[in-house]
Amino acid sequence: ESFNDFGLVPEILEACEKLKYTKPTPIQAESIPYALKGRDIIGLAQTGSGKTAAFAIPVLQSLYEQATPFFCCVLAPTRELAYQIKETFDSLGSGMGLRSVCIVGGMDMIDQAKDLMRKPHVIVATPGRLMDHLENTKGFSLKALKYLIMDEADRLLDLEFGPAIDKVLKLIPRERSTYLFSATMTNKIEKLQRASLVDPIKVSV
Ligand code: AMP
Repeated sequence: ESFNDFGLVPEILEACEKLKYTKPTPIQAESIPYALKGRDIIGLAQTGSGKTAAFAIPVLQSLYEQATPFFCCVLAPTRELAYQIKETFDSLGSGMGLRSVCIVGGMDMIDQAKDLMRKPHVIVATPGRLMDHLENTKGFSLKALKYLIMDEADRLLDLEFGPAIDKVLKLIPRERSTYLFSATMTNKIEKLQRASLVDPIKVSV
């Protein structure tokens, strides 16, 4: 099995080669084919499994076909994870003029508002700061969003980001693709799944 089997555009295949991704990891092999068909995904996977590329690759393939502003939003529990996710998107999307931004707490709101005005394709955000911009930054909305990703959802909920996530869900289109990744399956995650995913494929590694 190789990345060639997924029918990806050459720009992504070349990026995988540069990153020395020779063979899809189990979570990638299980989820990418379904994600490319437009299915929602719930993935049970730990850090180190290759989960970031598992969700970034289908988003970038779809973005290649029609790149629009505010195409994808990734919610992450911490600043550090958000920057790592942005880096993965940037490396995998380097051949296609991808614009991405990190919107996390503790950084200057005005600088971030300026970044948002450049209409990035991908926003990687902590939920609290994202809500702050949705409520206070003029001209910014996620009404054109095509993909919502919640990464390390168990930690998102442990850090009490549940209410901010619920608010974000009310402000984005119902017609979108959603991927939920978590290390564990709990009652709270099941509840979030029911509130945000439609008929998801469950992948577990
Ligand atoms: P993650 O689980 O997303 O944090 O990824 C863990 C590490 O695996 C990162 O350093 C990735 O660059 C790397 N990685 C992801 N996919 C592959 C792959 N198919 N082959 C080799 N390394 C990979």
